[in-house]
Parts: sequence; C-alpha cells; structure tokens
Amino acid sequence: MINDSLQTTPALRGTPATRIAVLGGGESGVGAAVLARKKGFDVFLSDAGELKDNARKMLDSYDIPYEEGGHSEALLLSAAEVVKSPGIPDRAPVVKMLHGKGIPVISEIEFAGRYCRAKKICITGSNGKTTTTSIIYFLLKNAGLNVGLAGNIGSSYAYQVATENYDYYVLELSSFQLDGMFDFKADIAVLLNITPDHLDRYDNSLAAYARAKFRIVRNMQPGDCFIFCSDDEITMSHLNDIVLKAQLLPFSQTAAVPQGAYTLGERLHARYHSDEFSMHVEELALAGKHNVYNSMAAAVAGQVLQVRNEVIRESLATFRGVEHRLEPVLKVRDVLYINDSKATNVNAAWYALESMRTKVIWIAGGTDKGNDYADLFELAAQKVKALICLGIDNEKLHRAFAQRVPVLLDAASIDEAVGAAYRLAEPGDTVLLSPACASFDLFKNYEDRGRQFKEAVRRL
Ligand code: ADP
Repeated sequence: MINDSLQTTPALRGTPATRIAVLGGGESGVGAAVLARKKGFDVFLSDAGELKDNARKMLDSYDIPYEEGGHSEALLLSAAEVVKSPGIPDRAPVVKMLHGKGIPVISEIEFAGRYCRAKKICITGSNGKTTTTSIIYFLLKNAGLNVGLAGNIGSSYAYQVATENYDYYVLELSSFQLDGMFDFKADIAVLLNITPDHLDRYDNSLAAYARAKFRIVRNMQPGDCFIFCSDDEITMSHLNDIVLKAQLLPFSQTAAVPQGAYTLGERLHARYHSDEFSMHVEELALAGKHNVYNSMAAAVAGQVLQVRNEVIRESLATFRGVEHRLEPVLKVRDVLYINDSKATNVNAAWYALESMRTKVIWIAGGTDKGNDYADLFELAAQKVKALICLGIDNEKLHRAFAQRVPVLLDAASIDEAVGAAYRLAEPGDTVLLSPACASFDLFKNYEDRGRQFKEAVRRL
C-alpha cells in the first residue's frame, strides 16, 4: 500500500531535492524520517511489513510519504542514501540490492550524529548495555546536566536531535546499529564485554561480531576516552590488534589499574588523572559481579565528565534498576521471586546465578540461540535445587543438566512454571527466571515473558 502523499510527492516529478529513503518504520526509522524532513530532504519511508498506528500518524503529521507491505525498488534506487533500521539484516534482499547498486546504507545513529553537536557517551557490549546506559544517564541527570537518553532505549535519537536541544547524549548502541556507522564519533565510548550472541547475523564469526562492537571507537581522537573491561579476553585480544588514539581507561575486578577503575577487597576505586573515587561494593544499589562492572564503567564516565564524587557515589547507591534485569518481584512465604527475563544468553544467566546467595529454583529455556551450557555447570551444581524448563523444546536443557541438578521438570506455560516453583521452594530460597534463551517460542518478546512472570507471581 502506498499512501497518497507518496504518489503525489513533488520529488517523483523530478524536483532536484536530495532524496533520503528510510528502510523500516519502527521507532528509529520514523525518527530518522522526521529528522530528514526537518533538514529539508526529500524523504520517504518504506516498510516490508505493517506500520503501527502511531508511526503512521507521526509520518502524516510531518507530511512524510511512506509505503507498507513491500519496497518500491525504483524509489529506493533513486535515493542518495538509505537509512536502515537495525532490525533489517544485511542479507535481506533489499539491502543486498542497495549495496549492489552502490547506494550508501547507514544507521539512524550515523544520520542523526551529523546534526548533533552534543557530547556523546556511547555504550555497547554483549550484556549490560541498557543497565549501564541507564546508570550513566541517571548520574548525569543527578549532576544537573542537560542530557538525553537514546539509541536502543527510549525514544529515537534522530527524533530527539530533530526536536530537542541537549548538551549531552547517553546512547545505547547495539552491534546492528554500529554496523551502519562510518563517520560518527563518540566522545566517550564504553565497551562492557564481548561474548557470543547474535552470531547468526555475523556469519557465525565471533571475530566479525567483535569487529562490529569495536566500531564504537571509530574516529576517536586523543581527547576522547575509551572505557573497557580489561578482564574480558575477547576485548583485550582485539584491542591488541588495533591502534587507538583515544585515552584508554580500563576497568577490572582482577587487577589494579593506574587509570580507570578496579576493585580491591570490598572497595571499588576509580581514578581519572588525579581525581580519585572510592566506595564500598556493598553500597552499590545493584547486586552482582556484573553490576560491579557496570557501576565501575559508569563511575569512570562520570569522572571524565567531571561529575563530583558525591554525585557519583549517591547515584550508584540509589539507582533503582531496570525492569526485567534481576528485578526483585515479591517475597511469598519467605521465597524471593526474581525476574531476569532479559537474560537471553548464557553469559547473562551466568551472572544471575553467580549473584545468588541462596539456593535457587531456576526457570530457564525458550528459543535456543546455539547455546553452550557448559559455563553454567559449576554454578548450577552449587546453587540450583531444581531447574524448571520453560520452552517448547527443552531437550537441550535436559541433556545439559539432567545429571547436574537434583530436580528437573518441564513447564509449558508461565503459570505452570511459577506453580511448580512455588511447590518446590522452601523458605529462604530464591525463584529465578533467567532463561539464557530468547522468548519467541512461548512469548511475544522478553518483556512479555517478564510481565507474565510477575503477574503469575502476584497471583500466588
Ligand atoms: P543489554 O542491554 O546489553 O541486553 P541489559 O542491561 O539489558 O543488557 O541486561 C541484560 C541481561 O544481562 C540481564 O539479565 C542482566 O542481569 C545481565 N547483565 C547486566 N550487565 C551485565 C554484564 N556486565 N555482564 C553480563 N551480564 C550482564
């Protein structure tokens, strides 16, 4: 279906305005289209599926032509540049066609970055992006800065660049967004970790996935800062292979570093030039070793931006966490229920189990992403009393854990899983939903899984 304005747009009759096409009409695509319109481009948006009502309304209100249910090749090929949504893989025929014709395909972040003079603090990694982005945003807000939050989170970066006037942006960047970035430059880049995830989009090559993550440091200059985890082997081996102009600020839980952050005993230390920051790990609002990493990265970013130590400490101590990430739900009969539905890979589930201080009834499973569960064996043997497999095909979990946990059973719905957990748990235990898998077999997405879990717990 093509809407009226597309059929009558003047550009189709040959006006010379530069044409920008936007592929995909989700949050980022619509935002990019609005920004392009505001910057005077002849823009149109094309989506192979159906647009949401609010997307249509927004496009109409800016008088932006669009099509749904397919792509008009001729229109796309007449564009000077195409802004592609991160959800569309490079192997999609339409993207291949554009590449074949030499039409530049960029991400919304690349496009919006051209019109954004604000300082950009960019966060990527396999796990912890949303959490760390949210902590840094909270910290900068508390410091009284005029700061926006965007990227993979909240409303689109391009839309905010079109309509707001922030001095700083905290941007969560997925590897798919980074793929389409060329001239964009971060002022502060944070790379949390690199563990196998989404390898299907990178020809099953971990090296290619790591390269995508490292695009975050492209174009960085000596005045810029790169904050990274020096305990992460993949990050470190890749870092050894490249030349970086930015200042290197590692964070580590295994070794002290002269600049950056580290833990010593139970204290977290951060140092940037002569500025020293320190607080007790117990004071951090978010529990777990992974959140110590996230907090360290945030502390260093805060120091680079000259946020006062009291504000950093207060922020790390009072941050309230993000929904579906080790989110405490309720205590029922002295059993704590925790929603970690966002743990869609083995590494995230590892950190969840690692952070447990009690025996655990563990609810896991869903759509397998080529998981190797071996990393979880030791923690499962130490902590898991029962594993409830919540998925359509639980065979792989059975094979991995049958000999390693005392009780293993299947559940075909969230109610069944929560009911079984309720029966198995004893006072003092924790029921943990940390699936290590995607959610698409039984749920719309991980948010749906997490919300259903919380509702089922509240019904107990
Ligand atoms: P992302 O945005 O990268 O997916 P989130 O902050 O949403 O990261 O967290 C996703 C999952 O990973 C959650 O289960 C969370 O508890 C876990 N997690 C958070 N930070 C880290 C980290 N630094 N390392 C490993 N796992 C983490």
